[in-house]
Formats: sequence, structure tokens, C-alpha cells
Amino acid sequence: MRVKESMVGLTPYQPGKPIEEVKRELGLDEVIKLASNENPYGCSPRVEKAIQEAFKDIAVYPDGYARALREKTAEMLDVTEDQLIFGNGSDEVILILCRSVLTAEDNIVTATPTFPQYRHNAVIEGTEVREVPLTDGVHDLDAMLEAIDEHTKMVFVCNPNNPSGTYVNAKAFETFIEQVPEDVLVISDEAYFEYVSAEDYPDTLPLLKQFPNLLILRTFSKAYGLASLRVGYGVGHPDLIRAIDPGREPFNTNSMAQAAALSALDDEEFIQACHDKNKQEMKKYEDFCHNNGFAFYPSQANFILMNLNKPGGEIFDYLLSKGFITRNGEALGFPTSVRITLGTPEQNDKIITELTKWL
Ligand code: PMP
Repeated sequence: MRVKESMVGLTPYQPGKPIEEVKRELGLDEVIKLASNENPYGCSPRVEKAIQEAFKDIAVYPDGYARALREKTAEMLDVTEDQLIFGNGSDEVILILCRSVLTAEDNIVTATPTFPQYRHNAVIEGTEVREVPLTDGVHDLDAMLEAIDEHTKMVFVCNPNNPSGTYVNAKAFETFIEQVPEDVLVISDEAYFEYVSAEDYPDTLPLLKQFPNLLILRTFSKAYGLASLRVGYGVGHPDLIRAIDPGREPFNTNSMAQAAALSALDDEEFIQACHDKNKQEMKKYEDFCHNNGFAFYPSQANFILMNLNKPGGEIFDYLLSKGFITRNGEALGFPTSVRITLGTPEQNDKIITELTKWL
């Protein structure tokens, strides 16, 4: 058996070593993972009860259409229920989009570095990926516009961008989407939406009325703290959602995940508290960089990319020896940087102390 040509040479996503393995290898009692932008405060306490209740129906297939979660999410976003598509993480919404839309004759436009799954899924479809370098860590929307041609099917704007944490502001985004041809889909990936505090961050939901070629992606994996349950969603024009929905697995989000997400939506205080703590903790890393003369990208997300002027692998290994799994900048396109997901205040204090001692 041979896989199709476009799959040759691709490797699966490598999430890094499990915590238990790192503990064993390094002989450490405690290892903290600050590498995948999860919520260090967990999830809303309401989630546990919701999961327990959903557990009694575990022998039954879930509602593939996620009706209850759909209704609540639509109400919260002030959109209609037929504007939503739920996925096994927003990762799956990206996959559904790519398998539904892309062919080997097409291209997509993305920034680089950015979230790698846009590229990964497009490559599987045999589609050309046009990668436009960030300028000062931010999407170069003019250059991305220039990269669009008659074969372009989608443009991905990761906002805030992973791994830089930087954002495209409202004016820039609106000017951009106005110029994108109507038959090109603009994906605004807002995985870190709940952490954003910049006042000029785009309010994309109202733009859906004007731009049927806009698709917004959000997730329950980050601020909502449900990464392991895998729920994310897309919001777009009903015609677009209807067109891509057949590309979804029939039971793609499970009942416990749906129940958990539904209960998490009710706890606005939890999200607000996580937002506020993240912002406070971000200041510690910014101060560390300012005090030591290190460059960093101002981040609107729950992670920070810092240029510590040493090979990323060295920074990674040092932090690993102190019990912290972080993200090596070399693998992210920033060779002398490290990306750290903000942890609890104690974790952040410890990592900053270790870095200060070392550098
Ligand atoms: N988009 C971005 C920008 C991300 O960083 C991530 C997760 N790292 C995702 C999408 C996927 O998140 P999930 O599949 O857990 O919803």
C-alpha cells in the first residue's frame, strides 16, 4: 500500500514527551508543562458535575449536531444556530474545511511562523501553501493580499498569532477583508480570544453579516480549560456551514465534551478571572525581559515568545533540567527564543527565578 503523494514525508504532530517520561529520565519529582498553551487553573468547577451527569449516557452515541451546546453558543454569540459547526477541537474544523474545499489545483495563504495545522492539512490535500513572513512578529496583510491569486481558496489569519502572541487590529483586519476577493475564504482563528485585552482587537462577529466569506474559529481548549475533551467551533455564513458540514464525522464531539462545554459557558466569572490573572502574570515576564534587555513580542494570548539570545535548544534543555517543559523556539522559526505558556503565579515566579540565575 502507498499513501497518496502529498502525504509522503509528512510527520504526525509531535506534542513532546509525556510528563511522566520526563520525570523518570531526569529523576525529578515534579515536572510542569508550559508548552501547549493550556489553562494552568484548569476549568470551571461546574464542569465536573456536568461530566458526571453525561456519564450515565456513555453507552449511547452523542448528538452529532450538538443541539444544546449549539443553542447556547448561538445565543452567547448572537448568531443563528445554522452559523455554527462544532469540531473535535478547532483542529478538526480546520481539517473539515481543508478536506471540503481544497484540491491540488488550489493554494492557501498563511503567515509564517504561524499555527502549523493550516499548512499540514492543506499539504495533505496536495494544495500549495503560500507562506508570507511576519513583519516584526505581526501578519503582513498587504503582502498576504499580494500573495492571493485566482487559485487561492483560503487565507488564514491567526489572531492572536501562535507562536508570537501578536495581533492584527480591527482597522487592519477590516481593510484586509474588504480587499480579499469574495470567493476566497478568510479564516480568523481566534483560539486565544478570551485572553485578549487590546481595545482595538477586531470584533469579527458583526462582520459576518457583511462578509459571507469570513469564518471565525474559537475553542474550549484554552481559557475554558477543556483541551483534553476536544471541542472547538467555526462561525460563518449558513451557506458555508451547510456546505462543509458533510465533511464532519457523524459523532465528532462526544457527549461529555458537549456537556462540559455547555456548563463552562455559564461560568463567565471563571473566564474573567483567568483573563485577569493571565494579564497580571504576563507583566512578570515582560518586566523580566525589560530588566534584562531581552526582546519579546507583546502577547495578547496566554504565552510569550522571548528572545533570550541563546540557541533555543539550550534554553529548552536548561528549563527542562529545572522541571519545566517549554517550547523550543528553533522549532517555531525563532532560533534564539523560547515560548512559555503562562503558568500559575508560583510556576511563573520559579521559572523567572531560574532564568535570571542562569542568564
Ligand atoms: N488554533 C490555534 C492558533 C492554536 O494555537 C490551537 C492549539 N494549539 C488550535 C487552533 C487548536 O486548538 P484545539 O484543536 O484544541 O481547539
